[in-house]
Order: sequence, then structure tokens, then C-alpha cells
Amino acid sequence: MKLHVLGSGTVCPSLRRASSGYLLEVGEELLWFDMGAGTLRRFLEGEFALERVLRIFLTHTHPDHTSDLVPFCFALNYAPGWSGRNLTLYGPNGLWHFLTHLGAAWSWVEPRKWERHVHEIDEHEIIDLGHCKVGAWRVAHGELNALCFRVEAEGRVFCYSGDSGVCDNLVKAARDSDLFLCECSIPAAYPAMPGVHLTSAEVGQVATRAGARRVVLTHLYPQADEVDILAEVRGHYAGVLERAEDGSCFQV
Ligand SMILES: [Zn+2]
Ligand SMILES: [Zn+2]
Repeated sequence: MKLHVLGSGTVCPSLRRASSGYLLEVGEELLWFDMGAGTLRRFLEGEFALERVLRIFLTHTHPDHTSDLVPFCFALNYAPGWSGRNLTLYGPNGLWHFLTHLGAAWSWVEPRKWERHVHEIDEHEIIDLGHCKVGAWRVAHGELNALCFRVEAEGRVFCYSGDSGVCDNLVKAARDSDLFLCECSIPAAYPAMPGVHLTSAEVGQVATRAGARRVVLTHLYPQADEVDILAEVRGHYAGVLERAEDGSCFQV
């Protein structure tokens, strides 16, 4: 598997970091995780083939993880060369409700020239795609239904935290992972947000508890780029540690 970072950022508009979005290359397929603002542009910059995208996985419905769904679905209806697709959208309970409201506001994003399948994922459900297995766990992110994902393929394990505070499910999902893509929202100097986001220390503690072999930090606010965020995490985690940048690529 190969991880391509489309957006390593957050709610903060940033030239360096688009909002959340990742492609996980599994064989010929590109599994798209989250679709925050700017990730569609990064997808084009990376010259990825649209034909390879068959499934989109959404961790939760916050705009920094979903807003590029609007121009994406609009393009699938009206942009030459984009229509005629068959796509499955996976996400937490409430995804149907969310898409219905999106369609009520912008009827032009409702599927007209493409086929949309929607799959609301139950807690602990494992989706067997044949060439890989995708497991979903409910994580702590305020009042929202939010998921993290664990993908197993080619004898390797990839885990993506989505947005999450410390919780046992996140540790379970990241258990013995070869690459744990983990949100790192709060540097040490800022107040913690228990049950919503992870501090740098908590990232290290969760990764250590999970036995993750390698951690890539993401969901980085501008304040995380003003400190040595890797050093902050390293105080609590002894494995391989890196930081995501838009356009970066990691072999899982
Ligand atoms: Zn977020
Ligand atoms: Zn969020």
C-alpha cells in the first residue's frame, strides 16, 4: 500500500496545508479518505487517474473533511470526462441525512450522470473489498458520529485516526499498525481538548499503547508548524515518526 497526502491541514485556510484528504493506493485502486477543501485541487496536482477512484471513505461530516464533495459531485454531473462513474461513499451513521441536506441546498450535486451508492458503517464493521479489508471504529470527537479506519492488505496494516480524542477504540484500530496516520491537533503549549482532539503528548501515548510501528502526524494547525511538533511527540513514542505534508507519499 502507498499513502498519498492530499491535505494535511485543518479548518484553518492555509497555502501550505489543504484540509484533510488522503489517497491510499491498494493495487490498482485509490481509496479516498476524507475530502476537505483543497484536496480536489491536490488530486489534480498529483495527476492521479479518476478511473482509479471507486470508493470514498468519510470519517465524519465536519466541513474540513467533506467540503470538496460539493465540487467533486458537481463535476461528476457536468464536467466533460468526469461523468458516468460508479462511486460508493462510506461514512458514519448520519451520512444519508448529510447527503440529503447537501442535495437540498445544491440539487446539482445529486447524482444525475453518475451512480452513487451510500454505505453507513456500523461500529466495528469490517468491509471486505477482496483485495483489502477496511475496518471502522467509532472514535471520540465531541457530539459527532466520527470514525477511524484500519485497512489491511498485502500483509500490512494502515490506520487513519480521522479526528479523535483519546479513546480505547483508536488504540484498538491502530493496534500493531505498520503506518498510523494520526491527527496531532494540539501542541504542548495549548489547552487540551479531551474527547475532541489529541495533544502532541496524547498522540505519542496512543501510538505507544497501540504498538504502532510508524506514525505520520497530520491534521496540523498553523501553531503546530511553529513548534518542533515531532520532538513533542517523540517524548512519548519511540517508533518511527514523521510529519505529513501535502503531496508527500509514504510506503505502508
Ligand atoms: Zn478536522
Ligand atoms: Zn472534526
